[in-house]
Amino acid sequence: MGAEATDVPMTADPARELVRTYFPGARSENESRLRGEIDATLDHWFRWRSGRFDDSARVGEPPVADAPAHQDDRLGSRLLALCDALTAETPTFSPRYIAHMKADLSLPGLLGWFAAMLHNPNNSSRDASRVGSVIETEAVAALAGMLGYDPARAQGHFTSGGTVANFEAVWRARYRLDHWLALALHDSETTGETLDPFAAAHMGWERFRSLRAAHAVSDDRLKSCSAAASNPGDGWRRISRASGRDYRGPVMLVPGNRHYSWSKSANLFGLGGEAIWSVALDAGGRLDLADLERQVDRAETDGRPILMAVAVAGATETGAVDPLDRIYDRMDQWRAERGWRIWRHVDAAYGGFLRAMLDGPSEAALTPETAAALRAMGRSDSITIDPHKLGYVPYACGAFLTPDAERYAVSAFDAPYLDRPELGEGKWSSTLEGSRSAAGAAATWLTAETLGFGSDGLGSILAVTIEARQAFETAVSEAVPEARFLPADSNIACFALARPGEGLGRSNARTGAVFDHFQRSPHFAVSRTTLGVDNAALIANVLARHGGHDDRPGGGGEMLVIRCVFMNPYWSEPSVRQELLPRFIEELREALAGLNATEAA
Ligand SMILES: *Cc1c(COP(=O)(O)O)cnc(C)c1O
Repeated sequence: MGAEATDVPMTADPARELVRTYFPGARSENESRLRGEIDATLDHWFRWRSGRFDDSARVGEPPVADAPAHQDDRLGSRLLALCDALTAETPTFSPRYIAHMKADLSLPGLLGWFAAMLHNPNNSSRDASRVGSVIETEAVAALAGMLGYDPARAQGHFTSGGTVANFEAVWRARYRLDHWLALALHDSETTGETLDPFAAAHMGWERFRSLRAAHAVSDDRLKSCSAAASNPGDGWRRISRASGRDYRGPVMLVPGNRHYSWSKSANLFGLGGEAIWSVALDAGGRLDLADLERQVDRAETDGRPILMAVAVAGATETGAVDPLDRIYDRMDQWRAERGWRIWRHVDAAYGGFLRAMLDGPSEAALTPETAAALRAMGRSDSITIDPHKLGYVPYACGAFLTPDAERYAVSAFDAPYLDRPELGEGKWSSTLEGSRSAAGAAATWLTAETLGFGSDGLGSILAVTIEARQAFETAVSEAVPEARFLPADSNIACFALARPGEGLGRSNARTGAVFDHFQRSPHFAVSRTTLGVDNAALIANVLARHGGHDDRPGGGGEMLVIRCVFMNPYWSEPSVRQELLPRFIEELREALAGLNATEAA
């Protein structure tokens, strides 16, 4: 094994301390601490309950065990049955589990969640959540600061996950685009001037306000011009008439490394699958800026407004981070030269917390390109982040954020076209979900208060997860020459098993068989993924390094890779690396030896 695999990098020591303090421990080393804190939380809760309302009638004395009247009380036994059944769950707390974006929960995550769950506030309104909703506001501000928004101005809320947070972004982008286009349609219908749907849909609020004031357009009139607020069919027909060409609706530019929630969003918002325009990826599996430029040109030529341009920070399959800095430089230029305000959304469901590594020693674990991309995240109009991934808090906990109230605005169903100050009373009218738990917000809040979202807190833990991925890559590629790693920006390692000069078909078969071996093995859990046509440049890049080739007639071959997610915090322990890296390599060699035996037979 290479020296890099066992060397403990500079940033590891404080991070190891944090992992030892704030996680249950791979072998439950912090059991008594967690029990103590849960007990203290329950004590507090019971004191609070029993101290209230002295005059309330009692519900009855607690049941006595074995008393005949309570023979039907099956709670204890069935609870144990439930606990028993749950032991068949995957042991994702273990560093041997590197399959998916799931690992042990942190103590602040568990305890914050538990404390709020006991009170069960409903964050849909201040009435139903006097404290939980305040905690949510504070947790949103903590996330905002980490993500590069001004915490004093940023808006947002917690969602069930990244999928719904992405939908929240589409909902708001549509609200904005629909306003701008509706006003331009009104303008064109009254003046007779030809409508340019592309330019109109990106006009900006400043122009919207001055145009609206100049024409004194009433709410009712604006609403009657809106495809979203009136009849979509009529709306599109009128846009076609006013523009002198068939209007085919807006498009969404989403890179090929997108999560499947984006296809769901096109379906859900009635855009049609065709409206998702896939932006090509470069040889590193990141959004290709030149292709984004081509797609924007095409949208303009075709008269299709851009509902939003999505970039991904931490792709679900590979962990790749799109070049946000270069993308937003280009979009700033369009804005300055053409006046186009195109909604910029960052899907940072996985990689948002990597931003905690910036501006401190932890940043050294990122390439300069990835650091520059993450640094530009605050230049977006909205962000999705999943505390239930790299925030180590329990499901279901995602969050949606915007830099200010203007971009948070959305059609409230009661008064869709009124400018409203952001409601003090609650979020119910501006969230897709109705009732919302405060538990995820409290878990995130307690994490911010303890571990912290800085480079010396969560950032340093994420830095060691990246170093663990690097150590893994170094050790495996030295020991197993067939292992061909994809370029990696974060803590996800993907590799194919290919021999020099080989066709894709053969190496896919080998990679698939090795994955099957791991599926049968109790020692490690890995996942697999297939790089498809969107990743043609990345596949060509990997093939070129070992002289492989695409043997599919006509090209367009897919590449199967084994995927290992190194988010488990216990990989920060040198003893874990020293023990598990050689075990993994042994397992991989066994799998390959088994195949060679079959091939030879
Ligand atoms: C996980 C993920 C999502 C979806 O989040 P859920 O919490 O599973 O709904 C969206 N985008 C990316 C990039 C993700 O990694």
